[in-house]
Amino acid sequence: MTSNPHPQQADLVIIGAGGAGLPAAVQALENGAGRVILLEKRKTAGGNGVFASGIFAIQSPVHRAMMIDLDPDQVYKKTMAFHHHARANGRIVRDYINHSGDTIRWLMERGVEFEVGPEMQMYFGQDPTWHIAMNPETGDISRFAQVFRKLQAEIKSRGGRILFETECQTLLKDDAGRIRGLVARAADGTTFEIETPAVVIASGGFIGNKAMLKKYFPYFDDKFGGFYVAMQGEGIALAEQAGGALEDYATLVKEAPGSSDEMSERALTLSCREPYTIWVNQLGRRFTDETIGFSLQTCTNAVLNQPGRQAWTLLDDAMVQDVIDHGWKLPRFPGMGTDQKMREQLDAAAAKGLWCAKADDWAGLARWIGAEPEALQATVDEYNAGCEAGYDATFAKDRRFLRRFAERGPYYAVRFTCMIIETCGPVRVDEKMRVLGADWKPIPGLYAAGALTTGWQGHDYCGDHLFGTALGYSMHSGRVAGREAGAYAAAHAAAHAAAHATAARR
Ligand SMILES: Cc1cc2nc3c(=O)[nH]c(=O)nc-3n(C[C@H](O)[C@H](O)[C@H](O)COP(=O)(O)OP(=O)(O)OC[C@H]3O[C@@H](n4cnc5c(N)ncnc54)[C@H](O)[C@@H]3O)c2cc1C
Repeated sequence: MTSNPHPQQADLVIIGAGGAGLPAAVQALENGAGRVILLEKRKTAGGNGVFASGIFAIQSPVHRAMMIDLDPDQVYKKTMAFHHHARANGRIVRDYINHSGDTIRWLMERGVEFEVGPEMQMYFGQDPTWHIAMNPETGDISRFAQVFRKLQAEIKSRGGRILFETECQTLLKDDAGRIRGLVARAADGTTFEIETPAVVIASGGFIGNKAMLKKYFPYFDDKFGGFYVAMQGEGIALAEQAGGALEDYATLVKEAPGSSDEMSERALTLSCREPYTIWVNQLGRRFTDETIGFSLQTCTNAVLNQPGRQAWTLLDDAMVQDVIDHGWKLPRFPGMGTDQKMREQLDAAAAKGLWCAKADDWAGLARWIGAEPEALQATVDEYNAGCEAGYDATFAKDRRFLRRFAERGPYYAVRFTCMIIETCGPVRVDEKMRVLGADWKPIPGLYAAGALTTGWQGHDYCGDHLFGTALGYSMHSGRVAGREAGAYAAAHAAAHAAAHATAARR
């Protein structure tokens, strides 16, 4: 490998060093690919993957050690049924589920430690499939940033190169329609060409591109919260420009309830997930069994159906004290436990008045919410009566979580909306991660992996069911793309060498 800052030739170029691109490079190099180059637009690697905590898997070494034996056939069938067989590509979903455990093995071989257990489930009764990356030094839950540091080191040690602050501008094809190279732009503004027979586009989704969000999700507006690297979806345009087909749909990975984006106000979002609270809309009416707050993806749809696509959680001071004394009721999540600062955070947020309000009576909170005081009072009275009867006749909430509100305030209301996490699609690929054209045939030498590809999700992200699929699939599809693109490049080199030898003999 030359040390030229602007390499002119490669066997394989991967666009994007994130959740899919890094595994693609490691897998290609592990399988014997020669000159592998990653182009990364930013100064650092990892993309949105650095925020992730856990990935979905079954039949992993961790499962085997814990004697958890989930049947891939059943998981596959349940997944396709969840998607109503609409939009999701059965071959892609099947391949992902069947090989999810192998990705855990592959990462464990590289020193990553995982933990999985019922306490990490997002919903009571959910299968324990969320594999959380642990920090071996502290024993704490870690973000995937540490995993990506390991992959980066391996790429370097195997002779691959990552060119930071370098982005792909155009893909180049030969007369036969095969990929022959690309044009890239470096941080200093220099434009240069790399000759390569194989390219993997792994440049992430379009979560930062408001025009695309509006196009694929007409209900999208600025009320959606969330923190993420604002990917612009350039790889989607690159695939299309090279003849790749774009599906007419994409999937939005969203979560709720989400309150303030301020980390110092974390208690606000968590209090919305407390099952003893109730949720009301702007009319002051309940609209669901609040325990759907355990199910971060599903409950987004209930919130999106409400006026203004927002809602409020109501709690009294005894509920706050309960968290302080006994902890959050949600199953374990990064950094969760008892929260001594909960009341402090709620009071400070109430003083600002944007996401939280505190009042001595329900009428005070109704005014802040914008609801009729009588409507809110009727909601609380009806709920309290249900708690006393031990039965929620309105939404059949689990009776374990029915607890009547105190007769006297203070009471709190916390406003919440939906957060966006990722987009999926719309680049059409097959299960070998080959980019397909309008005729459903592969474009020779062009592969894609991760968030920008389609076929692994239906209308709704399968979060509850296969929680941790956004990154789990990105890593899986990256490995597949690295393997396939590497093999394609090797076959291309062999054919090239044979043609040369034949020409030399003549
Ligand atoms: C807060 C948060 C928490 C999350 N938690 C989880 C979780 O616990 N479990 C889970 O499964 N998923 C989680 N996700 C989702 C997951 O991180 C992403 O779905 C995953 O990282 C997608 O991988 P990717 O490679 O497709 O994109 P990314 O990881 O975003 O990587 C794309 C890379 O391509 C680069 N790039 C973009 N355009 C170009 C260009 N033109 N040229 C060169 N480089 C380019 C980007 O800079 C970036 O480095 C979370 C996401 C967020 C935001």
